[in-house]
Amino acid sequence: MSRDYVSHLECSYTGEIIEKGTPHTLSSVGKPILVKYDLDSIRKDVSRETIENSKELGFWRYAPLLPVSEPENRVSLGEVITPLIELFGSLSHLKSKPECVLVKDESRLPTGSFKARGLGLAVSMAKEFGFDQLAIPTNGNAGSALAAYAARAGMKSTVLCPDNTPIINTSETLAQGGDTFLVNGLIGDCGKIIGEGKESIGWFAVSTLKEPYRIEGKKTMGLELAEQLGWDLPDVIFYPTGGGTGLIGMWKAFHELLELGWIDCKLPRMVAVQSTGCAPIVKAWQDGVEHAEFWQNAKTEASGIRVPAAIGDFLILRAVRESNGFAIAVNDEHIMRSRDMIGKADGLLLCPEGAATFAAYEVALEQGLVSPSEKVVLFNTATGLKYPLPKVSKKLDKNMPFNPSFFR
Ligand SMILES: *Cc1c(COP(=O)(O)O)cnc(C)c1O
Repeated sequence: MSRDYVSHLECSYTGEIIEKGTPHTLSSVGKPILVKYDLDSIRKDVSRETIENSKELGFWRYAPLLPVSEPENRVSLGEVITPLIELFGSLSHLKSKPECVLVKDESRLPTGSFKARGLGLAVSMAKEFGFDQLAIPTNGNAGSALAAYAARAGMKSTVLCPDNTPIINTSETLAQGGDTFLVNGLIGDCGKIIGEGKESIGWFAVSTLKEPYRIEGKKTMGLELAEQLGWDLPDVIFYPTGGGTGLIGMWKAFHELLELGWIDCKLPRMVAVQSTGCAPIVKAWQDGVEHAEFWQNAKTEASGIRVPAAIGDFLILRAVRESNGFAIAVNDEHIMRSRDMIGKADGLLLCPEGAATFAAYEVALEQGLVSPSEKVVLFNTATGLKYPLPKVSKKLDKNMPFNPSFFR
């Protein structure tokens, strides 16, 4: 099958219709562009069973709901359906007894983070448009995902990182072929440099929400969740929110599924989780405003959600409000304590961003924002192995007689 079901593109703010088939960045008013599908045709040609019987790897099983038209342009590194893992031990200390808390473990995707979904799609679209050079400004996981997928597609990738980006992220990017630069500035400064080179180098620039396709990749988290739960959805989703691509993407996915008639359940309440060290969306939600203010001196160990300004802020806030959800911030001490606890109690080494969703769930339960009977999904967005881990301090002397009291 060589076709796509994209009907057109649309400005997410004004609804202005934009023609498909050519590369785009932001809309004429400087807002993100969304991809729209001919859902009537999809409904006629494709069914839930078609999807369930698909032999495609991971998120490519949702190809009819994705913008890539030529199957040979799908760039793949062996994507998987990420598991939903129920928490048990981690819940035992809670006063109220939650009925069902699931972790959607995105760490198992190529490059160890869910950025693989968005960048896999963006690189595939770049291939479809005939680009061979891609560029991205990034704080971390997006850079390595771009580098890996670009390498796989035989394209060149240029990755500009603020010089305080965690070394593991810049190194993994370099190791997967990304031409990686440290910039003495913030992510916005990196984006500006890429903007200046777009014409002369011919870059396909893939900044968060500044092209229409990464969100389509992240959307597959919502599609996958629905299929995994038997075409049903949880009551509440806790999502670690930086640029918000995943939250916006899932909300978009749920509406497409509703319109297709593939689900008929109540939509989940969407909860945007941030760190108290960088919580612009939480502040905007509390203030009841449409756009978030720039967050000065953003600081958190959860680097994936260290995003002081999100261009899709109004879309995040819209999804949170429409879904009757909320936005909530937790401090880094609580985040790291949750990470350590879940590793020990359930054998799951979450990333700090993923651990933040647990910390937020804990606070929300206490405050009565969620009830223990609600089915909850927490998103673990990357592998915990990419972050600083506790050091082993206990020593054992091989020459000393065995002492059982050490090990009891
Ligand atoms: C990018 C990132 C996030 C934030 O994702 P958005 O969809 O842009 O909000 C969260 N966690 C990790 C590990 C990330 O790399």
